[in-house]
Amino acid sequence: MPGVLDPELKRALAERVRFYNELGIYAFYRREPAAADPSTTQAPGIHESPAIQPEERDLMTPRSKAASAALVEENIAEAANLKPESRVTDPIQALLLIREDLGDCTRCRLSKQGRKQIVFGVGNPNAELMFIGEAPGADEDQQGEPFVGRAGQLLNNMIKAMGLRREDVYIANIIKCRPPGNRTPERDECETCSPFLMRQIAAIRPKAIVALGAVAAKTLLAINAPMSEFRGRWFDFRGTKLAVTYHPAFLLRDPRQKKETWKDLQMVMKELGMAVPAKGVE
Ligand code: URA
Repeated sequence: MPGVLDPELKRALAERVRFYNELGIYAFYRREPAAADPSTTQAPGIHESPAIQPEERDLMTPRSKAASAALVEENIAEAANLKPESRVTDPIQALLLIREDLGDCTRCRLSKQGRKQIVFGVGNPNAELMFIGEAPGADEDQQGEPFVGRAGQLLNNMIKAMGLRREDVYIANIIKCRPPGNRTPERDECETCSPFLMRQIAAIRPKAIVALGAVAAKTLLAINAPMSEFRGRWFDFRGTKLAVTYHPAFLLRDPRQKKETWKDLQMVMKELGMAVPAKGVE
């Protein structure tokens, strides 16, 4: 039976957990309360470091470690549920609350490196299918919407080839601000920004996600592999099916790969129970 946290402590813990999540830290563990000397035993403060000294760690039995981990998992899961959007079930409301929480974000250096605006995401909050790209480019930065430039036109063609409209799906990126000169996002930028994308995914609860290109695939799956190993199969992303295909910007450079992309999209359509049109991506 897990311990019950005081509501104020739980709120403070939730704040702290959210702060660490925003830094990209998800794994926590807790120091077992010292059993021996009551004169030195204090209630653990929220500001205390939770680090276990190596010698203390050795004293924990596997069983107490497991129990402690289970307790922490449970309390953190509960605390994490205190995210603003956890109060609502409607994905439209949830997305609004996530957007509000993101604010005029200055959590990473991109806020100071010439971004015009945050590109949050666009589309149907009840979408069965989500496309996730890398980062906004110049057009997206200008218009505040993902995939509106040339790569976006090609993504629109891909969506249309599937028999869908852009407004049927939800489109977002790993990071929400344009990197200077459209450079590849840095790892820490992805780690800082992607928790908001995770929350968008959790709010929308799509049946399938298509990661566009290697940066999206590597970040979402935390696997460092070439595209050849990502394509043509399903991955599990926190309980949601995830497929990987080429980024539309790559297809603009190498249009011969469109037929490979069409194979990936056919796999997705089959999974979603959609009729597969004969015509591919143009
Ligand atoms: N490329 C991306 O990865 N995302 C966009 O929004 C536009 C181009």
